Amino acid sequence: MPITAAITALQAEIQQTATASGRTADAVTLVAVSKTQPLEAIIAAYDAGLRHFGENRADELANKAAALSHLPDIHWHFIGRLQTRQSLAVAQYATSFHAVDRRKIAQRLAQQCAQLNRVLPIFLQVNISGEASKTGFICDNWENDKTQQNNLLAVIDEITALDNVQIFGLMTMAPANASNAAATAVFSRTRALAEWLTKARPSVNFSALSMGMSGDFMPAIEQGATHVRIGSKLFRQS
Ligand SMILES: *Cc1c(COP(=O)(O)O)cnc(C)c1O
Repeated sequence: MPITAAITALQAEIQQTATASGRTADAVTLVAVSKTQPLEAIIAAYDAGLRHFGENRADELANKAAALSHLPDIHWHFIGRLQTRQSLAVAQYATSFHAVDRRKIAQRLAQQCAQLNRVLPIFLQVNISGEASKTGFICDNWENDKTQQNNLLAVIDEITALDNVQIFGLMTMAPANASNAAATAVFSRTRALAEWLTKARPSVNFSALSMGMSGDFMPAIEQGATHVRIGSKLFRQS
């Protein structure tokens, strides 16, 4: 399938899923995960109307964003684990960072964004499933575990005190190959956590939810995803 057809088909599925859950398609930002894809593939997707792209390596982000900086209104989302020593590319080029998984990376980005005179929107990555292979703040029993709650609130208070990064939501991943029901549970618990945090910290914005990938974007949208991160379904369909 050419990329234009894949985009059209995916947008129709997003629209249907959003509508069926009482939401509108424009409440869901499609982040096309272009990691490992060549510039030509990104340009083809851009020409087909996409404006949001996701990368998970800082050097790759820097190279691609610099090479495509002539494209109006193109947005880069950094979605992977970020090493502190590679954070400058994200501070320079990313529209948002989806994977804040520790204080230190937020502090580092805030320093660099201060020098660049910008504010970087960030998602806190939360590990809801408890899988050891997943990064993110451990929230696998946040509903009952006061220590998990207090740890997360303490991080949020520290990050909120930083001037040049701004929390605007949570990011999560369901286990790979999870059943629809298991993925739904992870996404629903993430949304509930965002609602709980909004009550606990009313001055912080937790309205964005980055959740859902090629295999599970439908349950994610049903549970309130505002950003879906989709790679293989767009770029690697056979
Ligand atoms: C690669 C990646 C995606 C996209 O995964 P697909 O299954 O290819 O859609 C989404 N989120 C993160 C964090 C990724 O690393």
